[in-house]
Amino acid sequence: MNKVYLVDVTNRDGVQTSRILLPKLAKTMLNLYLDEMGVYQSEIGFPTLKHEISYINANLELAKIGAIKRLRLEGWCRAIPADVTLTFRNCPDLKHINLSMSTSDVMLRTKFMGKRSWDDILKGVCASIKLAREYGAVTIGVNAEDGSRTEPDRLIEYALAVREAGADRFRYSDTLGSDDPLTIFEKVRELALATKYPIEMHCHNDLGMAVAVSLAGAQGAIEAGVDCFIDTTINGYGERAGNCDLVSTILALKFARGFKEKLRLDEHIDLTKAWKVARYASYAFNIPVPITQPGVGANAFAHESGIHADGTLKDRRTYELYDPEDVGRGEPERLETGRIITTGEYGGIRGFRHVYGKLGIEFDDDSDARNVFELVQYANLHTQKPLIDDELRLIARHPEIVRNILKVTP
Ligand SMILES: [Zn+2]
Repeated sequence: MNKVYLVDVTNRDGVQTSRILLPKLAKTMLNLYLDEMGVYQSEIGFPTLKHEISYINANLELAKIGAIKRLRLEGWCRAIPADVTLTFRNCPDLKHINLSMSTSDVMLRTKFMGKRSWDDILKGVCASIKLAREYGAVTIGVNAEDGSRTEPDRLIEYALAVREAGADRFRYSDTLGSDDPLTIFEKVRELALATKYPIEMHCHNDLGMAVAVSLAGAQGAIEAGVDCFIDTTINGYGERAGNCDLVSTILALKFARGFKEKLRLDEHIDLTKAWKVARYASYAFNIPVPITQPGVGANAFAHESGIHADGTLKDRRTYELYDPEDVGRGEPERLETGRIITTGEYGGIRGFRHVYGKLGIEFDDDSDARNVFELVQYANLHTQKPLIDDELRLIARHPEIVRNILKVTP
């Protein structure tokens, strides 16, 4: 049976969104946490963008030394040869890439103003695929931006052309979030039947259905006998009304009555990491998790009304589909209410040693301590919020890689 794999695009689609941002150190933490959670791939950013280069190369280094174990780190660029060349010049060790091109009439008309024919576009995309392969790309995904508003026949023609050129899978983008579950199921099934090509669902939430349409599309792909990939973002952060939420997607695959029978989720996924990942993303982005958020919202397991509380107290399954422990909840969180010593931008060496001592990390060598201490100051300058324990651990474990993550000199 074919499987459903998750590709998280928080570090690309999430961060490109208006009015929300993420420091490179936090992007790195998300990659580490996604790896712990067993997510298949992370779209880590824009290798053509100058201020991303050092962060991307540092994360590739983390993968090389085994600090990131299974998660595939993938870069995103436009499907034009100039971008592919720039990508691999900037990040020569990048092994996974998504190449993006618009395919709908409306986007081609507005973006290219009639200057490029459909044939020219296909040729450019296919040349980009071949070029990426020459530069050493191990997997190449090709995006049909605005796939949902593209004529089905054209979409099939495009998918067949990129497969012929050597791409590994095809990304169907519901860029405006305009699909509905029944339509997308039919469309993706037809596409998969006609091409026998693994399909990646990339859906936006403008109509509040990003998770529903992603899963309906996945079912279409699986029924047609191909693997399916679903693009997600943590807490659904993304352009406009956001993307397909990572935790909700996993919950739906595990607990929705139909999907849990019909769709087989990548067995590496560990849902118990959901709470940690969602909370960290909320902290790093500075966006609260809505009280009603599936699985990780404050009220996801709260009961008060007479009938609900009574039913839940008698048997939790009366009003709960899954348990708090399934999403990594249930342990009380420690909140320091007394004296607290922190380390950061303006800290000193004594406070620094105290904080690390509490984490069980000692520095025997004075110059090692000084080195990490200085990096902690810069990391805090970079994030502009208190460093969490896992960030402090990352800095102590891989100081030279963190130094590169923090390098964003214009
Ligand atoms: Zn998108």
